[in-house]
Amino acid sequence: MMDLEALRRRTAGLDGGPLLAALVADFPGKLAIISSFGAESAVLLDLVAQVDKTLPVLFLETDELFDETLAYRDRLVAALGLTGVRGVGPSAEEKAQAAELWRRDPDQCCFLRKVLPLRRAQAGFSVLVDGRKRFHGGGREAIGALELGADGVLKASPLFNWSEARIEQAFVERALPRHPLVAQGYRSIGCWPCSRPTLPGEEVRAGRWAGAAKTECGIHRIA
Ligand code: SF4
Repeated sequence: MMDLEALRRRTAGLDGGPLLAALVADFPGKLAIISSFGAESAVLLDLVAQVDKTLPVLFLETDELFDETLAYRDRLVAALGLTGVRGVGPSAEEKAQAAELWRRDPDQCCFLRKVLPLRRAQAGFSVLVDGRKRFHGGGREAIGALELGADGVLKASPLFNWSEARIEQAFVERALPRHPLVAQGYRSIGCWPCSRPTLPGEEVRAGRWAGAAKTECGIHRIA
């Protein structure tokens, strides 16, 4: 059983690369990263590459991604030298069940295309590292660096306290490639049916499931 409070005490004050490195040292072979290869993903993946290029990176290939995202994944993997990226996606049966489902029932669509495949892929891992940040607003405003899921898996968010300016600084300082859709106004990029560019003054994730009450796909749920 993981002692979350002891781990929080041991890593207090850490974020970004130092927090990731501490977790990798604490959980050898038991830590994986989740990445959407979206608008800001390069920043976390760059930290991963600096710590260990062979770490497993789970990429949710929902079958509804933009072609630009798939091309960006290939570009980033090559640029950063990552060797542990693996596609995680729905089975043929799940794809058939989820056909056009985003129109009628996006929660079930996300469940079939994201939640179930990730549940299978995370078997054997004790820690899942993600790129969530408080400045994205909504339910993310209160996230911490480390949260324990009901499934017993630790959710680690090394960028939890990073600002938009700090993310931008990392892109510039590290000369990280940009997702091609950022130039078209996309600030948060998921599946094509459920992502649109943000308008001036909108929050970062306002283009996700725009017009619906839904704000999260469910893979980060801890309860
Ligand atoms: S983001 Fe949209 S298309 Fe993608 S899995 Fe969720 S509802 Fe389906």
